[in-house]
Amino acid sequence: MEDDRHLKRREFLVRSSAAVAAGLAGNLARRPLFAARDLIEEAAAKVGRLPRRRLGPSGREISVLIGAGDLAEAPARAAILCGVNYWHKANVWARSGAPAEIIKDREAHYCQVTVDRVGGRHEAGRIDEESHYAFVKDTLETTGLGYFDDMQFHFGYHNRAEIKNERGFVRAFERLKREGLVRHLCLSQHGYAGNVRVPGGESAAEILTALIEDGLYEHAQIIYSYGHDPEINAFLKEARKRDFGTIAMKTARGLGRMTQDRAFMAALPEGTVPHNALARWLTTGTDLTAAVIRVRSLDEFVQTFSGAGQPLGTGGCRAIEMMTARADATACRLCTACQTACPEGIPIAEILRFERYALDDGDRWKARALYQELGDAAGACSGCGACLSRCPQGLDIPAKLAAARAVLAP
Ligand code: SF4
Ligand code: SF4
Repeated sequence: MEDDRHLKRREFLVRSSAAVAAGLAGNLARRPLFAARDLIEEAAAKVGRLPRRRLGPSGREISVLIGAGDLAEAPARAAILCGVNYWHKANVWARSGAPAEIIKDREAHYCQVTVDRVGGRHEAGRIDEESHYAFVKDTLETTGLGYFDDMQFHFGYHNRAEIKNERGFVRAFERLKREGLVRHLCLSQHGYAGNVRVPGGESAAEILTALIEDGLYEHAQIIYSYGHDPEINAFLKEARKRDFGTIAMKTARGLGRMTQDRAFMAALPEGTVPHNALARWLTTGTDLTAAVIRVRSLDEFVQTFSGAGQPLGTGGCRAIEMMTARADATACRLCTACQTACPEGIPIAEILRFERYALDDGDRWKARALYQELGDAAGACSGCGACLSRCPQGLDIPAKLAAARAVLAP
């Protein structure tokens, strides 16, 4: 009975996702709702099989674009058909159970559990062996996955000293590994330089480079998108040389705003679309192992995943140049370089990250809730301008904060 209810709910979700996709999916849109499976198979056929690449010392071959636990059901099913075999944020499936296709063919997929600090947000929370251990065990039960391939330390370390002195996360991993419940260690790393909530905070590149030396982690997920970022590019080169895996996240900088701008879209070289150009660039024009690109419909899935492993070409290169210029003028790359200069200690990168959730991902509710936790921090900006010279994009940071506040403050 329980199984039956579960199947019915999943079927409903497939149809719901297809209905959303149908409104956006060009040729796919003219199909009736009951053709959900056909739509998914049709989308997968347009994309074909994704290329794979070695992740790190485990020798695992993963698809160059990965999936996520919060991917809508229709694109997730199409992704499985295309050979996507790495799933980050698999713990999100705790709400509804992991997709049946993955449970059925469990060893063909790598599923990653995202584990947060406890007792506060990522800036103030602490590493706690017992809590991390218990969280993973609970999540295994609710997802039905049996084991997690990767245990991810969400948001990562605050500085290099913490890697050495706070081993609680690693100890939790080692206990779970001995029990056969997890297999590999990874993290996602944000930057903490100049963050007043994190005394002694350091940049993502500094921490990641030290992590390669530490040798315990197999791969890292990093904030990475188009635009010149010499510090992270140097880290990526080193990581590739040292067989340390890298997966880019938050890759679609300013993309939501671009796709809503008709004039910008019309000016792109003929035959190019931003999602496709981004996928091509990430998978062939960088030193990354793989990347995650957020897609919200079957149409975006086809546009994006069909670019995986494909050369950029002249039009694609021009599209990436235009996207970079546009994003540099509008969307923060979250490098945190400005924060050390701010006398008010404003978490500029955090606020502008939430702005990206609201304006690019369409997640206004989530963005506002996250901003509220910061206590209307953008309101403390005095307009002194001390941060301006630090921004590699030349953003007018006080104006950006005021605009973000207008979107994020209740
Ligand atoms: S302009 Fe605002 S954000 Fe920039 S340093 Fe001054 S107070 Fe901080
Ligand atoms: S505002 Fe500029 S300096 Fe500050 S985090 Fe964003 S891109 Fe970096």
